[in-house]
Amino acid sequence: MSTIELMQTDMLCIIDATPTFMPGGSLPVPNGDEILPVINTLLPVFQRAVAVEDWHPKDHSSFASNHPGKAPFDVVDLPYGKQVLWPDHAPRGTTEAKTHEDVDQSYIEAIIRKGFRKQVDSYSGFFENDQTTTTGLDAYLKARGIKRLFLVGLATDFCVAYTAEDATKLGYQVFLVEDGCRGIGMPTSEGKTTMDDAYEKLKACGVTFIQSSDISS
Ligand SMILES: [Zn+2]
Repeated sequence: MSTIELMQTDMLCIIDATPTFMPGGSLPVPNGDEILPVINTLLPVFQRAVAVEDWHPKDHSSFASNHPGKAPFDVVDLPYGKQVLWPDHAPRGTTEAKTHEDVDQSYIEAIIRKGFRKQVDSYSGFFENDQTTTTGLDAYLKARGIKRLFLVGLATDFCVAYTAEDATKLGYQVFLVEDGCRGIGMPTSEGKTTMDDAYEKLKACGVTFIQSSDISS
């Protein structure tokens, strides 16, 4: 990948870079905290960013604790389809659910929150898991004239992947900054993991995988 020159119509999107998904948090992604210095390197280069945050009420339907007899990582059928159950995480209004305090907040121009409706989970920064309820992020980015999105955050194979896929469907050119993301890698049926599945899906949608060093400072 040759060096990418940034334009005014580019936006850095920080997905769930929150303590709840980092070591010591409620739903830690392995080495999730390693994305923090990468994000802080990119922020002054982009000069603009939006942050997306998981923001759950206590009675959220994605929590295994709200499904008697179920355990975290079980899969259940909800009205909108299959849903993985998670440990309680991202309690709204807490520092655990807010973008990590070590991220330089000065360049974050908007914060979009998701997963605050108790009946539906939200992996994507654009749509809830019912695939129709919007978060408002697309309207915000379109109003700003944004054409290319550079994604960093957690977890690569869930919220980042779903955000990337939806972004391509909405007409954005999407770059996934690999060293600014970390994944979970849950095993899937064919001896592969959710990371393999996410990479396959995103390559098919035209997402470009880059390193932060590919971006010209
Ligand atoms: Zn969540």
